[in-house]
Amino acid sequence: MKLSKFFLPILKDIPSDAKIKSHQLMLRAGMIRQSASGIYSWLPLGFKVLKKIEIIIREEQDRAGAQEMLMPTIQSADLWKESGRYDGYGLEMLRIKDRQDRELLYGPTNEELVTQIFRDNVKSYKSLPLILYHIQWKFRDEIRPRFGIMRCREFLMKDSYSFDETKEGARLSYNKMFYAYLKTFERLGLKAIPLAADTGPIGGDLSHEFIILADTGESQIYTSKKILDLKIENFSNDEDNLNNMVKAFTEIYSATDEKFDQSEFDKSVKKEDQLITRGIEVGHIFYFGDKYSKSMRALVNSSSGQNITVEMGSYGIGVSRLVGAIIEVNYNNNVMKWPTTVTPFHVAIIDLGKKSENETKIKSQNVYEKLKENYFDVLLDDTDESPASKFKNFDLIGIPYQIIIGSKQKVDEYEFKEVGFDKQIVSLDFIIKKLKEIYFN
Ligand code: ATP
Ligand code: MG
Repeated sequence: MKLSKFFLPILKDIPSDAKIKSHQLMLRAGMIRQSASGIYSWLPLGFKVLKKIEIIIREEQDRAGAQEMLMPTIQSADLWKESGRYDGYGLEMLRIKDRQDRELLYGPTNEELVTQIFRDNVKSYKSLPLILYHIQWKFRDEIRPRFGIMRCREFLMKDSYSFDETKEGARLSYNKMFYAYLKTFERLGLKAIPLAADTGPIGGDLSHEFIILADTGESQIYTSKKILDLKIENFSNDEDNLNNMVKAFTEIYSATDEKFDQSEFDKSVKKEDQLITRGIEVGHIFYFGDKYSKSMRALVNSSSGQNITVEMGSYGIGVSRLVGAIIEVNYNNNVMKWPTTVTPFHVAIIDLGKKSENETKIKSQNVYEKLKENYFDVLLDDTDESPASKFKNFDLIGIPYQIIIGSKQKVDEYEFKEVGFDKQIVSLDFIIKKLKEIYFN
């Protein structure tokens, strides 16, 4: 892509209504635009990142054995009356009537709809365990939408639903998702901490939130510094080990405000290890047994021949909120650097030649073509802006690698720079080899 053609409406000034750095950056870098309170359009730069996050989430869900499907955004109110949640959900639910006066709603979550699909199509334990998921827009009429896409009204969520014959089976599905979540966040370059959480309107008795440490987060958390040393890569995901992994992560005291207990905290965590900080909730998982299968009569024939209510869990990730969380962690001193796994472009070429200088233009074009031939997603700055303003723009765009082309360089010499490090003078072959190692290994 050439910057002169790329739809990237950069703002020079920080919009006054944007209070946190992710919101500021997303507006300034032309990633999103608000269309109504808490409702956003995703412009090309933002959309590229959102899609890359989605791919990683999908890969880890698929690896955990979950199957992707797609349920609609609009649901029938009747289903929610069956589960008993229609009235209880309150004003956060956007309720709609169609021309026949039928009550519909814009889905805030999908337990009811997926339970209906399950009960109409699965009759026997032989089809279990089953985990279904989709990545779909949700609407919640939040009382105070704020921080841009962090707490908005329309947002993209990955939500999975597990169905098992037994409690033990349900626990295994829960553990598989627990693992998939930690793996997903690790691949996004984030350190996520699982915390015991309240189950809220979803209901149930076992639940964990996954929280990214950031000062601007809305959740207050209490935990031990020791949890920061635990790494998911040190655990395998075979079934026997899953229990040990969940145990290792959950035996360290960690809680949000709602579950916090000072004396328990002091008893379990030494003073010098106590970590009291703020974080962003990026995922939430629940085991809720037969809460929906009972009220909505989702029965299966069990292995011992009886009709039983199926054991269920649900598992959400805030896909769009993750874009903000990644920025909060990686945008420092007005310079953004995307993790290589989600960067909107692999590499930038910055042509510093003046308008009249054909030499740098030809050289830049040549590098651009070579990189594209090697399947890299490249952004070439071919605009007439001053070098200072070009560098400022790239501080916002956040591509982690830059090739800078000036008129003083020799024929096969290029300035290659990883954001945050010194530049190197190297050949194009070296750059291609290096980028292949980084992106295609
Ligand atoms: P919160 O406490 O932040 O309101 P929640 O507990 O209501 O979240 P869930 O119902 O568990 O959220 O939804 C799963 C995930 O969807 C959350 O972990 C979060 O990452 C994301 N999410 C929830 N509400 C919003 C929102 N208004 N804007 C953006 N993402 C959201
Ligand atoms: Mg909420």
